Amino acid sequence: MASHSVRISGMTVRVRYAPSPTGEPHVGNIRTALFNWLLARHEGGTFILRIEDTDQARIAPGAVESIFESLRWLGLDWDEGPEVGGPYAPYFQSQRLEHYHRASQQLVEAGHAYHCYCSPARLEEMRAEQMRRGMPPKYDRRCRSLAQDERRKPEDEGVQPVVRFKTPLSGQTVCADIIRGEVTFENDTLDDFVILKSDGFPTYHLASVVDDHLMGITHVLRGDEWVASTPRHVLTYQAFGWEPPLFAHLPIILGPDRARLAKRHGATSVLEFRERGFLPQALFNFLGLLGWSLDDKTEIISREEFVRHFSLERIVKNPAIFNIEKLTWMNGVYIRELPSDTLAGHLAAYLEEHLPPDIARPIDRSYLARIVPLIQERIKRLDEAAELTDFFFREGELTYSMADLLGKRFAQVPSEAASALATVRERIDGLEPWDEGSLEGAIRPLAEELGLKTGELFGLIRVAVTGRTAAPPLFQTMAVLGRERTLARLETASPTW
Ligand code: GLU
Repeated sequence: MASHSVRISGMTVRVRYAPSPTGEPHVGNIRTALFNWLLARHEGGTFILRIEDTDQARIAPGAVESIFESLRWLGLDWDEGPEVGGPYAPYFQSQRLEHYHRASQQLVEAGHAYHCYCSPARLEEMRAEQMRRGMPPKYDRRCRSLAQDERRKPEDEGVQPVVRFKTPLSGQTVCADIIRGEVTFENDTLDDFVILKSDGFPTYHLASVVDDHLMGITHVLRGDEWVASTPRHVLTYQAFGWEPPLFAHLPIILGPDRARLAKRHGATSVLEFRERGFLPQALFNFLGLLGWSLDDKTEIISREEFVRHFSLERIVKNPAIFNIEKLTWMNGVYIRELPSDTLAGHLAAYLEEHLPPDIARPIDRSYLARIVPLIQERIKRLDEAAELTDFFFREGELTYSMADLLGKRFAQVPSEAASALATVRERIDGLEPWDEGSLEGAIRPLAEELGLKTGELFGLIRVAVTGRTAAPPLFQTMAVLGRERTLARLETASPTW
């Protein structure tokens, strides 16, 4: 639990989600957005979206749009940022270069940073040599104290320098972290890291510090992979004479096998979860519990309750475990809670997309509305609906095996199955009304008349009208299928030999 002062009272909380647009946001990464959003909403603060696109080589086409889309789908609205604007616009770092140039200049002038003219080839050679000697690769600081005339030569040759931060050669840097307490780093383990590249773009370290300062960020909540970067940030704040924000590094997310979270754990991009039929409220609930808890036991927590109760004090240090089975279970809970017409609305889109191509589109919405109550209790993901309901929509003949139709009971005596199906057809042909109750009233007594167990008769009818051995409750299914479809299927099913 939090061992450090959280210092929120009297402070207007301003937090940011600062993704780099390198691909579709992953669930692990969007947890950072969620926790920032929750803190802002709980505190009545401001949630800022900032796109960190300074590493031009790593930008993926479409990534920015998928960041917006993922946040919107989860209902994480931002108060300042792209598309909504705000007092510190622009919120794309690639459009803020003059701020970083000015800041870098300021550090150079104050003696906290310097131009480095070393060529990539020299750096490469140096690194290879260090590796050979079993030393950690680190810049040897050759340009840190170049004299005026030593600089002239590369400058005259037009070499574009990078700007490096002058990391103190000794001493320690202490990083206060709301979740981890104080983390101390030995300065001599830190490099003279680059803050401005030769192409004029800042590195992440400089851009993030400058923007967090200029945008008045009060709390930096981010994944724990950034812990090692924090001393560089703290030193940079000190060099500028700025007060750093409060840092909170969220616990790492692992798979149930305690290995680094990966696709094989079912963890994919947020938009793939949508694709796979998860509801945003279920993913929201699940992600909100990856590192935070209400009381160590409550699992189903609404969005409003999260906002009401969220606190930094209840974020844990220990790894959070991503268990896809738990998420799937939660999704089932949220599906069952939906009003059936809302669920029908969600399912329509999935069915149009996932039903086999021979089924006509668009599907009939009022027919779908009658099917939904039959499957609402049985599905845990929206995309399971296609597989469960395709027989409702199919116009032509169903495909199933004779073995499934006849089962054990009729395998040797198909003629008995044929006559049972014929009798069923006769009994229900003119049935009024065509509903669950009268279908059951007409068919159940037939079993005894025909000398069959109810299970044997119902199983036969089930395969004939649905094409499968397991389906939603039989009489409800027949009621929804309707008279015409049911009778036609009973007829085509009749084994003729
Ligand atoms: N751009 C970084 C990322 O992609 C942001 C890290 C931070 O929050 O400081 O995660």
